[in-house]
Amino acid sequence: MKRRLILQAGASVLGGVLLDGCGGGGGGSDPATPPVTAKSRVVVVGGGMAGATVAKYLRMWGDAVEVTLVERSASYTSSIMSSLVLTGQRSMSSLSFSYAALRERWGVEVLTDTVTAVDPSVPSVTLASGRTLVADHVVLAPGIEFDTVAGLDDPDRMPHAWKAGAQTSLLAQQLAAMPAGGVAILTIPPTPYRCPPGPYERACLLADWLRVNKPGSKLLVLDANPGIVVEQDNFTRAFEQLHAGVVEYHGGVAIDHVDSATMTLHTNGGAFAADVVNLIPRQRAGALIASAGLANDASGRFAAVDVLDYASTLAPRVHVIGDSAATTQPKAGHIANQEAKVCADAIVRRLAGGAPDPAPVTNSSCFSTITMDQASWLHAVFQYDAASATMKSVAAATGASSGWNRDHYEDMHTWFGSLMSDSFA
Ligand SMILES: Cc1cc2nc3c(=O)[nH]c(=O)nc-3n(C[C@H](O)[C@H](O)[C@H](O)COP(=O)(O)OP(=O)(O)OC[C@H]3O[C@@H](n4cnc5c(N)ncnc54)[C@H](O)[C@@H]3O)c2cc1C
Repeated sequence: MKRRLILQAGASVLGGVLLDGCGGGGGGSDPATPPVTAKSRVVVVGGGMAGATVAKYLRMWGDAVEVTLVERSASYTSSIMSSLVLTGQRSMSSLSFSYAALRERWGVEVLTDTVTAVDPSVPSVTLASGRTLVADHVVLAPGIEFDTVAGLDDPDRMPHAWKAGAQTSLLAQQLAAMPAGGVAILTIPPTPYRCPPGPYERACLLADWLRVNKPGSKLLVLDANPGIVVEQDNFTRAFEQLHAGVVEYHGGVAIDHVDSATMTLHTNGGAFAADVVNLIPRQRAGALIASAGLANDASGRFAAVDVLDYASTLAPRVHVIGDSAATTQPKAGHIANQEAKVCADAIVRRLAGGAPDPAPVTNSSCFSTITMDQASWLHAVFQYDAASATMKSVAAATGASSGWNRDHYEDMHTWFGSLMSDSFA
């Protein structure tokens, strides 16, 4: 499919949720952008939802663009769906995605290496193996880092399991070993954090699992935000009615420090102790963003970008996409995929001497497990607003399901398969 056709393809609707998986092309720009003729080089750092997608689409849309993707792991582990590992409904291996298609089908050079430094002025990146890669454009997609928590000397005592991996398996083991009638705690960090509905859906899923597998147990949800930050109707009803007796929700709880020996959290609302603690700390952009001097949004934690091409506001040929970028869109895998396509399109246009699409549109879908076999959904469409230079949500196309059911749960798996294929296959 040609770039313009993909960008102009209308949103397909599946299970009531927009799933078009295309990020740009609201219209208005010249469809006949000249092809890139001279060989150009783009280096992408981080092969997650954002980085894998931008690498693939740069090659799809820019025949003469050489793309090198640097990722520290040999394969990608999806955080999306990883809460189902905690309940034994998915295996870690089912969340693993290979870079073979990027290499073999799309001609991306994939290096298994760690980027240790970025020089935005060149731009170039330095690898742990010692090489330095110079490029016409560098795209940074390193995801998130966690703040340290006072008193938590061994993070495995209170795992976040918020980057899928060893901590996900560890938390599953800790929950399995918890006694019936025990207490678990799940903490929710202040916004902005990765996947706004994610902690609430994990709470619902765990509540359902505890009721069946650990009768008499409680799940304390300690939210640093004053109240539920997204999909309030569904999560409030789920906590107060469906999971009443298991979930105890407390808003406005800030953690001061923890005592790992006694598994106690000391907060502004008093001390809370538990058998298992899923502590999800406050988040910021991947470490490279700060070390490159690009964490320049108002909070100093994420990269300020121009959402027409995701260029850093400090370095026009360094782009930041995915959870590391500060935008008005949620930090979510679906949005990371969308930002990647807008960014790929803009880079190809710029390399051909043109300008980015002036009116990009993105969309996001999120399904939330309310029980072990029922889900709700939330979707949003964002459109570029020239007056504020931000992506604004389009009210008529943004909303949540009214309640939850088994069909939405099935749709969730279809959506996940489409999203991961679009990013990695
Ligand atoms: C439990 C849970 C459920 C979720 N559910 C959903 C959902 O239903 N829908 C949704 O849209 N989103 C969901 N998300 C959010 C989604 O996972 C993230 O928003 C998405 O992964 C962000 O993509 P990214 O590319 O920015 O970061 P990542 O996907 O984390 O990728 C970053 C990559 O960069 C690599 N990297 C970092 N630093 C370096 C370096 N220096 N050198 C080389 N490589 C490096 C990392 O190894 C990693 O592979 C969920 C998240 C969680 C935790």
